[in-house]
Amino acid sequence: MPEVLFELKNVRKIYRMGDEKIVALEDISCVFEKGKTYCLLGTSGSGKSTLLNMLAGLEKPSKGSILFKGKPLEKLNESQLALYRQQYIGFVFQSYNLLPTLTAIENVTLPLIFRKVPKRKRLKKARAMLKAVGLSNRSRHKPSELSGGQQQRVSIARAFVNNPQVVFADEPTGNLDTKTTIEMMDLITGIAREHNQTLIIVTHDMEISQYADQIIHIRDGNIESVTDNANKLNAAPDNGGAQDEAAPGTEIAPDNGGEPNENITAEAGNGPRREEKEDKNDEQVK
Ligand code: ADP
Ligand code: MG
Repeated sequence: MPEVLFELKNVRKIYRMGDEKIVALEDISCVFEKGKTYCLLGTSGSGKSTLLNMLAGLEKPSKGSILFKGKPLEKLNESQLALYRQQYIGFVFQSYNLLPTLTAIENVTLPLIFRKVPKRKRLKKARAMLKAVGLSNRSRHKPSELSGGQQQRVSIARAFVNNPQVVFADEPTGNLDTKTTIEMMDLITGIAREHNQTLIIVTHDMEISQYADQIIHIRDGNIESVTDNANKLNAAPDNGGAQDEAAPGTEIAPDNGGEPNENITAEAGNGPRREEKEDKNDEQVK
């Protein structure tokens, strides 16, 4: 039996705007298992992002419960939630959300800085990750010096650099052309499969949903239906159209930086490991 990562029990979310009540989610119950790819599919305004934000602990349900590894997320305080995100979660956004003043490699190292990973190790992991997404030759470029697809590759590298157990992607290809969309989907699903990570993708695009093991159709704040996708599009077993050669088993294993592990069970450090040669002339990240 695959491990259940998230269990949602009758989750409801109401936003209050003055006198008006907006029911973003009405009554959601579902589970997300380890190592599977999910798609939350629905039209604009159906509640997909709200659901994703609650799984990420960015919003609390108005009613109901969200269990992560059996523990209710809504009971965690802000610092515990921050730790939860650092330890378990990666994000890919439609608009990339890269810091404009930092280079590609500096953007990728950010989650490692938050986890207090030592600098040499950060750079090593970030380099390996940039290589895996095919951007070794752009590591010193700023976001403004990269195409949309390249910026999304950097943000994918950032999302996966910690080897998180779960990666959330909210309309990850919404700003990209068809060819780049396919490359990005191959890349993101390929990395997640290689490391047995759970991927939860929000989209309004039927074609994107074909990459998922399970499609959860959201309509007006409810789950309309759940489809197991037997004809899932499978990423090529390589790195999904990245131009670089991805080293198999490239080290993106987590390092928990010796952090205390308040309230949540950690299973860090179980990823594949392979040491890479240190490059002395690498980027300096403060
Ligand atoms: P989707 O991602 O499917 O497009 P959202 O989850 O963003 O939908 O929004 C669902 C509904 O909740 C929409 O009607 C939206 O206007 C409303 N909503 C979302 N976030 C907020 C908020 N912070 N305050 C008020 N209403 C919100
Ligand atoms: Mg949305």
